[in-house]
This record gives sequence, structure tokens and C-alpha cells, in this order.
Amino acid sequence: MSIGAPFYITTAIDYPNGEPHIGHSFEKISADVVARYHRLLGDDVVFCMGLDENSQHIVTAARNAGMDVRAFSDLMEETFLRAWNALEISVNAWTRTTEPRHARASTELFERAMANGDIYKATYAGWYCPNCNNYYTDAELVNGHCPLHPTVTPEWLEEENYFFALSKYTDVLKKHLEDHPEFVTPSVWRPEMMALIESGLRDFSVSRQVKPDKPAWGIPVPGDPGHVMYVWYDALTTYLTAIGFPDDPDRFNRYWPADSQIIGKDITRFHILYWPAMLMSAGLELPRRIVVHGFMTLEGQRISKTTGNTVSPVDLVTEFGADPIRYYIMRDMTFTSDGDFSRGNLIRRYNNDLGNDLGNLLNRVVSMIGRYRGGTVQAAGEPGDLERDVQGVASRSAEQAGQLIDNWELDDALDAIWALIRRANQYLEERKPWTLAKSPDSAVALDTTLWTAAEATRIAAILLAPYMPSTANRIMDQLGLASIGDGDWDLAAWGSSTFGTVNPKGPLFPRIEVE
Ligand SMILES: [Zn+2]
Repeated sequence: MSIGAPFYITTAIDYPNGEPHIGHSFEKISADVVARYHRLLGDDVVFCMGLDENSQHIVTAARNAGMDVRAFSDLMEETFLRAWNALEISVNAWTRTTEPRHARASTELFERAMANGDIYKATYAGWYCPNCNNYYTDAELVNGHCPLHPTVTPEWLEEENYFFALSKYTDVLKKHLEDHPEFVTPSVWRPEMMALIESGLRDFSVSRQVKPDKPAWGIPVPGDPGHVMYVWYDALTTYLTAIGFPDDPDRFNRYWPADSQIIGKDITRFHILYWPAMLMSAGLELPRRIVVHGFMTLEGQRISKTTGNTVSPVDLVTEFGADPIRYYIMRDMTFTSDGDFSRGNLIRRYNNDLGNDLGNLLNRVVSMIGRYRGGTVQAAGEPGDLERDVQGVASRSAEQAGQLIDNWELDDALDAIWALIRRANQYLEERKPWTLAKSPDSAVALDTTLWTAAEATRIAAILLAPYMPSTANRIMDQLGLASIGDGDWDLAAWGSSTFGTVNPKGPLFPRIEVE
């Protein structure tokens, strides 16, 4: 197979100062759905995720755990990877900011900005929130607390820092956002960024002084070991490190600029304003899209370890399986606003959508083929109006699902796929194969009905593969077909497979009984 078109996707990197919770997973599952979709298209996908380890609060978390920072980071890496593996996240460019190759990339990016005259030294004073890694003015604090972290009391910091001259990029950033509406996806997040630009962009600090009483932790500022780089030159550069910047120009030039970089709404200004300016300063192209999502609440409340309102992705997967969790989150969360994770809604989606709609469709198809045709899918006769209608719905579902995934409307794409699943169930009610089976005169009609229902189910499996990779292959297996591989999105075309013998294995999603 020839190598497909490059597609580069990234998520934000996480602070490994505690275990990942379900709130982290929306972003990762979304990126995974899009990465898997592009692999199905035959694209050559690089999918970057990682850990943001060069932060003072990792040092604090390690100290609280009584551990060496590096040993603590290694342990946390295992914890994060366990969660992402459990959710079947297909990351293939995992990057940690403590890796030597990352220091190389950050140093290079910083030096390019210096050479371009965009970095200067000045004294900074402000309210510093360690969770945001950001300074706030008096007016921005809410009751003396960080506007984004109501439990954090920012510290007044005054120190000599290196600054990046963001203000120089005001006009060019404004023009970029105007000329490239898709740069901020979905567009609901764009006005806030335009308003920030209109209000005047402030230069931002890119270093911290190494304190004599604390061990240096981070990447030294080139030519000034009394300072370490601070968050943006260190964290954002991960997206370049992952694809070989600066020492592997072939790999880097193949995948950069990124196609989609997905982030939470709390770091929009850093990715939509700071990051493009840093890239321009270094003479690098800008990513095509920054995709922004809202936050997840848990049972209507803010997710918080201190209040105990948290749940581990690994525990959820142990209880329900990865695909139901992926499906529920993709179905009920949206990019345009915050969303809520609720156990009750998860179980409802599991029983209704997965058990009744999808699971029963497959179960009826394979068991009737077993019962009436000895397990072999017979060729269909001439299609009638109902068959043509099911085929039309299947074609529309495939086309819409592709377009919606391309536009990051991942919940709507599931709606489009469910239109096919519902239509196929309705079709069985209309054709009543259990009645056709009673009359030998209806043999061809029965063959046509069973084939049409099997074909609709097969296409649904292809379309669902980015969302529920294991389930899609379990459906293919029960239909007696090969597993879905890279480049197989074409198989969503009507009539593109040859059936053989089905392989019934019982319900895909056994019902969960609730009190
Ligand atoms: Zn904060």
C-alpha cells in the first residue's frame, strides 16, 4: 500500500501532577476519532499527545508524594498511558517535555525568536496563578482568586523575565483570524479572540528566574542559565518536537503545519494568539485549525479531586468497556459549550442506542440469516422502493458522517450514522422477514431483505469504526467479514463487499439493569 497524505493532529499535553480523570478524556477521544477517521481515509496520520513536566507544580506534587521529580514523572506517565490505552486512544507520537529532543526543539524556537528581535528582558509584576501559568491584573482576579481556579489564591510576583513581543503581531494575527475563519473551530470561540486582539495584545513572559533555594527544573534560556523557559516556549513546542523539529527536517516538513490542534477553552489565547506569533517569529507556518472544546462537569458539578467529584477513565472502562464510554462522550458532549457526564445518561445511551438500536439490529440480522438460510447470506434479488430507500439513507449517512467529522461536528456525525441504524431496523419491521420465511413463494424477497439489512449493518460498522473501533470489528466478525483496516472508508459504499457465512456471537451490548 502506498503512503497516504500526511495528517498531523495534536491534543494539549497534560500536567502529570495527579491521575487523569474523565474530564481529560473528551479531548483525547475526540482527537482519536478524527485520527482514526483519517487512517480509514488512507491518510498517513501522526497523532501527538504528551506530558507537560517542566512545571513547578510537578516539583510540588513530587515533593508531596515524597519522590524524586523524575521518578514521580515516570510513575505519572504510566498512569496516564494506562488511561489512554484503556480508552483505546491511538496516539503514535507521545512526547514528554523532559526529553532531551524537546530541550533541543524549545531552545531552537527560542533562539529563532531572539534572532528575530522578539525577545527582551524586563521586570514583571502581577498576580501569578501556578495552575494557569499566567499573570493576572487586580481587575482580573475574582474575590482575590484566579478567575479560572476559584480555589487558587495567586501570588504577587515581581521579577526580571524575558518577554516575547506579542504586541508586534497584533495586526498580522487579526488579519489571520479574519482571512481564515476555520482557524478557530468551532466559530463560537472566535469573537472572544477577536475582542482580545482589539483590546490590545500584551507582551508575555517566557522565562522564570532560577531561585537560589530551589533546584532548577526546566529548560535553560539560551545564553542565560539563571533563567529557565517558562511554559509557552516549553509546552507548546511539544507539537514541533513530536515530528522531529529541528533535527529531522524531512519528517518535520512532511507533517508541519498541523492539520488540527485540539485544546480546552482555558488555553485558547495561548494557542490562538501566542502560538501563531511564536511560529511566525521562528519563520514557521501556522497550524490549519485550532479546535476548542468546553469543559466537562460530572453529575452537574465541577470535577475536582479535593471535593471527591471525580471518576477514573480506567474504572469506567473496566465497568462498561471502552466503546460505550467513547460513544457516550462523543454523543453527549459538544465542542460549542460545556457538557455533563452522568452515569444515568451513560446507562440510558448504552441500553437504548447501543443495546436496542445497534445491538438488536445486528442480532436480528445474523440470527435470521442463521435460522432461515443456514447462516449464508444469499444474493439479493431486484431492489424495490424500500431497498432503494435504505440504500439512499446509507449513502447520505456516509457522506454526512465524513463531512461532519471533517468539520469536527462529531456528535452530529453520530446522529447521521444513527439515521441509518434506525432506518435499517424500521426496514425489517416493514419487510417482516419472519412472515416472508413462512411462504416458499417469497424466497427471493426474503433473500433481498436479509441481504439489504446485512448490508446496512455492515456500512454502519464502517462508519462507526472511528468512534467504536472494537465494536465495529465485532460487527464485521459476526457478519462473517474481515476486520476494518486503514484505507477502508471506501467500503462504506453500498454493495462494496461480498458476504459469506455469518458468525452469530450473542448480543453486542447485554442490557444493564438499573434499580
Ligand atoms: Zn488559574
